[in-house]
Amino acid sequence: MATNGNSYATTKPPPNPSPLRNAKFYQANMRILVTGGAGFIGSHLVDRLMQNEKNEVIVVDNYFTGSKDNLRQWIGHPRFELIRHDVTQPLLVEVDQIYHLACPASPIFYKYNAVKTIKTNVMGTLNMLGLAKRVGARILLTSTSEVYGDPLVHPQDESYWGNVNPIGVRSCYDEGKRVAETLMFDYHRQHGIEIRIARIFNTYGPRMNIDDGRVVSNFIAQAIRNEPLTVQSPGTQTRSFCYVSDMVDGLIRLMEGSNTGPINIGNPGEFTMIELAETVKELINPSVEIRHVDNTPDDPRQRKPVITKANELLGWEPKIKLRDGLPLMEEDFRQRLGITKKT
Ligand code: NAD
Ligand code: UDP
Repeated sequence: MATNGNSYATTKPPPNPSPLRNAKFYQANMRILVTGGAGFIGSHLVDRLMQNEKNEVIVVDNYFTGSKDNLRQWIGHPRFELIRHDVTQPLLVEVDQIYHLACPASPIFYKYNAVKTIKTNVMGTLNMLGLAKRVGARILLTSTSEVYGDPLVHPQDESYWGNVNPIGVRSCYDEGKRVAETLMFDYHRQHGIEIRIARIFNTYGPRMNIDDGRVVSNFIAQAIRNEPLTVQSPGTQTRSFCYVSDMVDGLIRLMEGSNTGPINIGNPGEFTMIELAETVKELINPSVEIRHVDNTPDDPRQRKPVITKANELLGWEPKIKLRDGLPLMEEDFRQRLGITKKT
């Protein structure tokens, strides 16, 4: 019988729609896409995924806020691939899992080109869901505590729908992430895509951009440079800070578990910005000045996660306290700034 050179055409049954996922070979070899993998959280996630020698990791990033430097230890590794790509454009790769992180996270960067931020959240997530649908991959979205906006419920659990200004300067990010969550659930309901949604609360650690304007990176860089710590008014606003290794652990548990989420991943230890400044001063530079400065619009007044769901469904809880995490970040910042600690 003629086969047109394709032995599958007539002599064998058609291939399973996702043969690699089901084959024994592939259970032991997971190909994982990390969008935004050159960024802060993404690069730590890649480090953890690469430690498992059964994983192959593909990173796509447009380097808007990320850097190849964050991945330098993996460039050239046979199980690692780095692609310059903007997620607002379609992507054709064959993968089993997608960690979709691509999106600037710092307010100064996501406000810098607000239209691009919302495109990244909406078109980027749509493209990654299209990819997940085509190849049958499981996809995890890194959503944010910002979906709760300026919360009227405190602390925030996942059932709270939020208090978000739809036309404010932060909306490109927080409304963008809300639409991204909607897209995830619509693809799940309509197309049966396996989804996971993490609502990430403020995360800190080594490799944060030194000048990205986020509060922990600002205070640490300022303390090291002996510049005033800029507490934006009123200073009584609160945040809850999660160390990056805890965050990565939570994301992987969520991906590997069976619950779609959304699930809060964050450290419930809650601090005012004045308390944070005082802690940084005490730990890093006792002689530094704390200066009160103006704030930006729509700054949430309080934020603290309820993590019961993460605890019960994923067996996850953060391990690193703020006082233990800050010195680890200081070490990294001192190295990058080239300023050693005076003894
Ligand atoms: P980051 O800015 O360090 O990393 C984001 C990465 O995405 C960067 O490498 C950037 O270059 C890349 N990127 C941005 N737009 C892209 C595009 N259009 N195409 C391809 N790549 C693009 O930020 P992060 O702190 O590592 O945050 C990672 C994810 O976690 C983001 O989705 C963010 O919204 C979410 N998140 C972070 C925090 C936090 O405190 N860090 C809090 C809540 C949610
Ligand atoms: N903030 C501050 N000083 C700074 C930068 C930020 O007091 O130099 C405050 C900011 O007003 C906000 C909090 O720190 O209340 C957290 O800001 P960040 O940009 O880190 O993250 P957000 O949670 O707002 O996305």
